Amino acid sequence: MKTVKLYNFLTRKKQTFKPIRKNRVNFYACGPTVYWHAHIGNLRTYIFEDILRRTLKYNGYKVKQIMNITDVEDKIIRKAKKEKKKIHEITEPYTKIFFEDLKKLNIEKAEQYPKATKHIKEIINIIKKLLKKGFAYKGKDNSIYFDISKFKNYGKLSRLNKKNIKIGARIEADEYNKENIQDFVLWKSKKPGEPSWSSPFGNGRPGWHIECSAMSMKHLGGEQGRTIDIHSGAIDLLFPHHENEIAQSEATTGKKFVNYWIEGEHLLVNEQKMSKSLGNIYTLRDVEKNSFSPLAFRYLILTSHYRSKLNFTWKSIKAAQSALNNIYEFIQDINREAKIVKNPKIIKIYENNFLTSINDDLNTSKALAIFWKVIKDKNISSSTKKQLLLEFDKVLGLGLNKIKKTENKIDKIPQKIKDLAGQREKLRANKQFVPADSLRKKIESLGYKLEDTAAGSTVLRK
Ligand SMILES: [Zn+2]
Repeated sequence: MKTVKLYNFLTRKKQTFKPIRKNRVNFYACGPTVYWHAHIGNLRTYIFEDILRRTLKYNGYKVKQIMNITDVEDKIIRKAKKEKKKIHEITEPYTKIFFEDLKKLNIEKAEQYPKATKHIKEIINIIKKLLKKGFAYKGKDNSIYFDISKFKNYGKLSRLNKKNIKIGARIEADEYNKENIQDFVLWKSKKPGEPSWSSPFGNGRPGWHIECSAMSMKHLGGEQGRTIDIHSGAIDLLFPHHENEIAQSEATTGKKFVNYWIEGEHLLVNEQKMSKSLGNIYTLRDVEKNSFSPLAFRYLILTSHYRSKLNFTWKSIKAAQSALNNIYEFIQDINREAKIVKNPKIIKIYENNFLTSINDDLNTSKALAIFWKVIKDKNISSSTKKQLLLEFDKVLGLGLNKIKKTENKIDKIPQKIKDLAGQREKLRANKQFVPADSLRKKIESLGYKLEDTAAGSTVLRK
């Protein structure tokens, strides 16, 4: 087995990954709060986590990945109130859309997607333990809070400036910043018009942070005091979400919660943070509306390292689409001619270089550079190229194994163009070559080209 190196936010170092059990990895990724479409920044995180998963598998590890669905939380409740709906009327359609997005982006399915509302019993059990051990208390508002002063390692992940701790203050909101370090809520007492569950400490609902502790501990052995190998998410979850998960979990079990904290950087749009006021919060639907394929977005994400900020622009995704189209056309051409003939020596060198890149804290941009080197290498046969590219795509996930000989999967060809191509086919079949040729020219003038093969003609984007 090769060495996988990962940057661990707990130690702020790149470390050789060592799982607790041989060849097996328990991996928890914070999932979506399903109150709206995932934006492209969220999708960047899911793509990086998919690369992490695929890299571990590529190295021979058996991966158990859990990604939660947050289906009760402040934002969901606010939206349900505004739209006069029940929370499940908000969360169910957006959960469905979330899974559609993952599929379009060729993100492998995690082993399980537990939902917060299905873990109320586990959440209550943790809070009971925390109350019993003195890490939690009931506030004047009847909500239950975690007492951060009782947990001596509070701040170890996000390296807090303890001066900012507001002693004795408490916050009921799920989201707050580092300037507002205070006791955080575990159980929110019932409010009119909000969903609630009964509990020994009164009717109410869980805070966001405890949901992830409960689900990760239940599905990855934390309840039995087992440490989880990897926990991942976006960098903005480092504080308070991940910090609070550590506090709740470790205070409950007395054991280390997670060994490796892997956090992905932000995505910027035109050098700015996405925000409602700037109107620059894009989703996968915006990408598709602009005639770009979801996999072009995936390609764009892979061009930069997951710990670097990535600046999304329409120009950058255009370049990614064009690169991806070139790859697909290359594969289509190879598919026409090449059968795999083994060429072990060269294959080994390329494979090693690829593995070294990807194992170096998921260096996807370097891995892509090797991918292109293979395409451009004049000294290796098409069949060797095909074998290597398909192998690399087990990690990169650009969907190369789905490209067929005469099918055009590059992007959607408009119906109008397809109709013109169909008319031209008919003319050709009737040996009316002159009008057929003028239709070809028309298609070309609209930005497409035709490739005639024995099996018929294929429309491609120019
Ligand atoms: Zn989480």
